[in-house]
Amino acid sequence: MDQRSDIIVIGAALNGLAAALALGGRRVRRPLDVTLVDARDPRGFASNAFDGRATAISATARRMFEALGVWDKVSHEAEPMAEIIVTDSATPGEARPVLLHFGPEDMAGGPTAHMIENRFLYAAMLAEAEQSPHIRFAVGQPVEGFHFAPGLAAVTLAGGAELRAELIAAADGRNSPAREAAGIKLVGWPYDQMGLVATVAHELPHRGRAEEHFTPSGPFAILPLPGNRSSLVWSERTEDARRMLELPLPAFEEELRLRFGPHLGAVKLVSGRHGYPLAMYVADRFTGPRLALVGDAAHVLHPLAGLGFNLGLRDVAALADCVHDAAALGLDLGSETVLSRYASWRRFDTVTTAAAMDGMNRLFANTNPALTLLRRAGLMAVNRMGGLKAVFASQAAGQSGGLPRLLRGETA
Ligand SMILES: Cc1cc2nc3c(=O)[nH]c(=O)nc-3n(C[C@H](O)[C@H](O)[C@H](O)COP(=O)(O)OP(=O)(O)OC[C@H]3O[C@@H](n4cnc5c(N)ncnc54)[C@H](O)[C@@H]3O)c2cc1C
Repeated sequence: MDQRSDIIVIGAALNGLAAALALGGRRVRRPLDVTLVDARDPRGFASNAFDGRATAISATARRMFEALGVWDKVSHEAEPMAEIIVTDSATPGEARPVLLHFGPEDMAGGPTAHMIENRFLYAAMLAEAEQSPHIRFAVGQPVEGFHFAPGLAAVTLAGGAELRAELIAAADGRNSPAREAAGIKLVGWPYDQMGLVATVAHELPHRGRAEEHFTPSGPFAILPLPGNRSSLVWSERTEDARRMLELPLPAFEEELRLRFGPHLGAVKLVSGRHGYPLAMYVADRFTGPRLALVGDAAHVLHPLAGLGFNLGLRDVAALADCVHDAAALGLDLGSETVLSRYASWRRFDTVTTAAAMDGMNRLFANTNPALTLLRRAGLMAVNRMGGLKAVFASQAAGQSGGLPRLLRGETA
C-alpha cells in the first residue's frame, strides 16, 4: 500500500482522533484527506481495562466536541461539575479545611467542566471518524521510518507501506518517535510521583462535587462520575504508589477510606488500579519541516488540574485553523508559514500552563511551616475575592486567550 493524502496523523488515541476529526471529519465544511496511523488498533482503546482514566472536559473542549459531532454520542456518560473544593492538609486523615470553593455562583456560563471516562470518549470519536469518507485508517502497525523533505513528508509502516502527505501531525504520545526523528529535544523533568487512577463506588451521592486535596506527597482528587461513582487521581511518591498498586484489595480500600473521609459513606473499588509515572516536559520546538507536534508529543503536564488533554485539544483546534486557512487560499499545508503560525499560537499558552502546574505541585508539596501558612492564607484570600475566582474559573473552562474556531463551536 503506497498512498498519498493531505495530512498524516500519527497516533489514534485521544489527540490523534481529535486531530483526524478536526481536519477531515464529517462536520468539517471543507474536509481534507487524512490518513490516521497507529501501532495499535484503536478499537481496543474503548475498553476500561485499557486506560482506566477519566478526563475533566472543559467548557470550550465540550463546544469543540459538539461541533465535531462527538458530544451527542457521549453526553449521557458525562457528569457536570457543579462544585469544586480545594483543601491543603499535611496528613491524609487530618480534618481538611476547605481553602478554595467554586460553586454555581462562580460558574456564570454553566459548568466549568464535565467528567467523562476516556473509554467513552475513545469510542465516540472513533465511531465518528469511521463514518467520515475523508479519514483512512492504517492501524495495527507502527511507523518505522520518517522522511521529512522540503517537497513532501513520508512515513514507512512496519509492513513496508509508504504513506506520503504535505504535512504530518504527530500525536504519538510522550515518547513521540516523530519528534525524535525530527531531532526535537524536550525540556522538563520527571517527578518522583505516580498518578494512581481508579474508579470508586460510594454509598452517598457526590452531587457533582469535585474535590482536590493537596498533601505533601501530591494531590488526591475525587472527581464525580455519573451515578454514585467517582474517578480517583491520586498522586503519590513513586515508591509508595507502587506499594499501593500491589496492596491486597481490602488493605487498599482501607487506605481509600482514610483519604476519602466519611462524607461519601462506604467506598468500594469498582475498577482495576492503574499507575502513570508523572512528569513535566515541553518540546523545545512544536514544529519541524512538514511536522507539527500535538498533545503529549508536544507537552506532558502534572495532572493536578486535569489540563493535559484539554491543552492537546487547543493544539488540535489551532492546527485545524492554520491548515484550513491555508487550504482555503490554495497554499502548501506543510509550508513554513503554516507551521510558524501554529507554533507561535501554541507555545506561550503551553509553556505558561506547564510552568503553573509545576509550580503548584512544588508549592503544595513543601512542608516548610512558614510557606504552608502563606500558601493557606493566599488561598483563603483568593476564595474571598469574587473577581479573581472568576478568572480562575474561566481559565479552568479554557475560555482565556485567543480561541480557535473549534473551541468557539465552529468548524472550518
Ligand atoms: C493520571 C492522569 C490523569 C489525567 N487526567 C486528565 C484530565 O482530567 N484532563 C485532561 O485534560 N488530561 C488529563 N490527563 C492527560 C491526558 O490523559 C493526556 O494528555 C492524553 O491522554 C494524551 O493523549 P495523546 O493522544 O496525546 O497521547 P497517547 O495517549 O500517549 O497516544 C499516543 C498514540 O500514539 C501511538 N504511537 C506511538 N508511537 C507510534 C508509532 N511509532 N507508530 C504508530 N503509532 C504510534 C500509540 O500507540 C498511541 O495510541 C491525565 C493524565 C494522567 C497521567
